[in-house]
Amino acid sequence: DLNTRVQIPSNDEIGSLAKAINDLAVDLQRYRDTRREFFANISHELRTPMTYLEGYAKVLRDGLYETEEEKQKYLDIIHQESIRLTHMIHDLFELSKMEEGKIILHMEWIDLTEVMDHVIQKVKPKAKSKGLDIRVEQPDRLPLVYADGLRMGQVFMNLLDNAIRYTETGTIQVQLRQEPSHVVTIVEDSGIGIPPEELPSIFERFYRVEKSRSREHGGTGLGLAIVKQLVDMQGGTIQVSSVLGKGTRFEITLPIGGDSQ
Ligand code: ADP
Repeated sequence: DLNTRVQIPSNDEIGSLAKAINDLAVDLQRYRDTRREFFANISHELRTPMTYLEGYAKVLRDGLYETEEEKQKYLDIIHQESIRLTHMIHDLFELSKMEEGKIILHMEWIDLTEVMDHVIQKVKPKAKSKGLDIRVEQPDRLPLVYADGLRMGQVFMNLLDNAIRYTETGTIQVQLRQEPSHVVTIVEDSGIGIPPEELPSIFERFYRVEKSRSREHGGTGLGLAIVKQLVDMQGGTIQVSSVLGKGTRFEITLPIGGDSQ
């Protein structure tokens, strides 16, 4: 039991040894917690694409589509989500081999409008099934950012998935724009909102506003922790503002990268 601590009997060598053992126990516990959280994160992240695979495979199996194009679109989503799963499983194996459990980023110059377009195509049917509109506002040309395209897709996916899950009527507004040194992405919904006192905590692992409400919406409280971690790792920032009963707005910035472009 790692909670058991060695008694520190004195200030001599025995005392220092006892202290060293206690410190080791604390480190080991921290390592175990990190590992446990890591596996919890992974299974959460695997569940989202699985939901889409299951859903669209069922739609195709039961012939619940009207046109060939529609069928093709669902097949494309199944294909893309399979690729995403393969990528994640690859990372999982890679990570399990590493003692530190660091996530490896594949950084490259990417166009966030392309990343966002892909994600919106994926979530559109889900939004439509709830009668929600997704409106996108973006310039014709956005500066490239140096980031991991798949991870940014995961970030946008989590935000849009939340926006859809926590909104009953209205519109989800997505905006991408350029600022002097950043590209800003905004995802704003007209949903149930988050109480002000809970706002500072929502990026914590496993944090859910009202557990029952979250369970009803199929959440685990890990999505935003992952989002924050991924954005931080890519040198970005994320902020949230919300009005209870009116809606929630997430704003992500990523540095444009100065003259290295
Ligand atoms: P979950 O899987 O429970 O949705 P997240 O980490 O994605 O976990 O979000 C944490 C909590 O923040 C959620 O349980 C939910 O209560 C709240 N939340 C997140 N996004 C929204 C949103 N767009 N509107 C209202 N509440 C939200």
